[in-house]
Amino acid sequence: MTTAADPTPATVRRAADPSPLIGAADLPPARHFVDGTFVEPSTDRVIDVVDPSTEDVIARVPEGTAEDVDRAVAAALAAAGPWARRLPRERSELLHAVADRLAGNTELLARLESANTGKPLAVSTDDVGQAVDTFRFMAGAVRAATSLAAGEYAENHLSVILREPLGVIGVITPWNYPLLMAAWKIAPVLAAGNTLVLKPSEQTPLTTLKFAELVADLLPAGVLNVVNGYGATVGARLAEHPDVDMIALTGSVGSGRAVARAAADTLKRVHLELGGKAPVVVFEDADLTAAASALRVAGFWNSGQECGAACRVLVHESVAGEFIERLVGEVRALVVGEPAAGADVEVGPMVSKAHFDRVTGFLERAKKEGLRAATGGGALDGPGHFVAPTVLVDVPEGAEAAREEIFGPVVTVETFTDEDEAVRRANDVPLGLSASVWTENARRSHDIAARLDFGTVWVNSHLVLASEVPWGGFKGSGYGRDLSIYALDDYTRTKHVMHHHGR
Ligand code: NAD
Repeated sequence: MTTAADPTPATVRRAADPSPLIGAADLPPARHFVDGTFVEPSTDRVIDVVDPSTEDVIARVPEGTAEDVDRAVAAALAAAGPWARRLPRERSELLHAVADRLAGNTELLARLESANTGKPLAVSTDDVGQAVDTFRFMAGAVRAATSLAAGEYAENHLSVILREPLGVIGVITPWNYPLLMAAWKIAPVLAAGNTLVLKPSEQTPLTTLKFAELVADLLPAGVLNVVNGYGATVGARLAEHPDVDMIALTGSVGSGRAVARAAADTLKRVHLELGGKAPVVVFEDADLTAAASALRVAGFWNSGQECGAACRVLVHESVAGEFIERLVGEVRALVVGEPAAGADVEVGPMVSKAHFDRVTGFLERAKKEGLRAATGGGALDGPGHFVAPTVLVDVPEGAEAAREEIFGPVVTVETFTDEDEAVRRANDVPLGLSASVWTENARRSHDIAARLDFGTVWVNSHLVLASEVPWGGFKGSGYGRDLSIYALDDYTRTKHVMHHHGR
């Protein structure tokens, strides 16, 4: 759907050096990690792990079974009591040691992540840095817990609130930030005194396995366990397992529903970080240059395979032409390439052929619906699953591309006429993860942010996160929070102990 005036940016920059990003010595053991060691799987079935830039198979991991899960849960259960009894200071010191170990292996982890996901090295290096910071934050936060003051709230009765770990947590992670999403769960889960069994995405297990290998000598056996495999078997068993006290998933809405259903029989707690479709509301008084340049990053970071991606612009009609021109200028300048093609590569491939087909399917249907690609609009040459960075304009209200999570390098631009319309249309999606408002008007910046139904709202920014502040959604984006003390709270339970001291 490219136009004559703007052909799809033609090329994918390829690595000049033919040596691959990773060698055999960089790979983690291709097994499950249970009770502090890599163990043989219960079957010999394997899953191919593919480099999406080259389409080469770079590893094979075991296809886990319910039996593998049961073994890992038993190990986590046995480790839960002793781990919960460790002092916060002791758990904190171990989490700092984990952070140090990760930081010391940044370059290796970044190369592995880029080889498995296709993401630019700048992105995977940033992921490792954020993972390190997540461990450091949780290591500090667990030593500074706060709650209602102990005191007398009923006559002659002293109330004390205890915060206890839940026990064994099942964790299921996605492919878009394999290491970082694992860190977002592992750090608060362990800090709070729980043990866990983690299932990485079957497509991207390498950095999670490498993480287990790197920290195996730091953490007590059984505290962290990793079982490879598919969602329908390994994920489902974790969600239904009677000895798993809570199941935490980052993934799609469909997987969230499946996990919540499977968890219902045991009434275990459920923590869901699901999809997003972030509106970017640009008012006529906004700094259009700043907004366009922010979208170059926030719309296309990780090739748009980002739950908070700035993918749906709603711009005031009076500045739409000028804004689109600036945005298209930024997007045309993006450097698309393999991870090893240079430090300035900004956009990599889609993670898999299936996801590439899904994204290009959205683009084809958009064309049939009458949307126009102001730049990009289709696939780029292989090998690898590359899609051109795309800006879709002439987007009518309710168009599929502006409602559904595409999860690729695609930004749609719609227009609005007044504040009420902007708010109504921004909120008119089933997902509520994040949004941004662009305005120089102080009243508007407060009022519109308050009226937007999203778990994070940025004002004059987008996709900036910090370990101290919560991340999580409303509506179809799930419930529960990652990062911050709110995540730590999510992985604990409160117990009220009341002492009668009257005579
Ligand atoms: P996905 O739902 O396909 O897979 C996520 C994980 O769930 C995988 O490990 C998968 O094996 C597992 N799974 C699939 N079906 C399951 C089932 N029936 N039972 C248990 N587990 C099951 O998602 P994905 O394609 O890997 O990731 C992309 C999605 O993740 C997007 O929708 C994105 O928005 C979302 N995401 C959200 C956040 C957030 O913080 N809210 C962060 C990253 C990604």
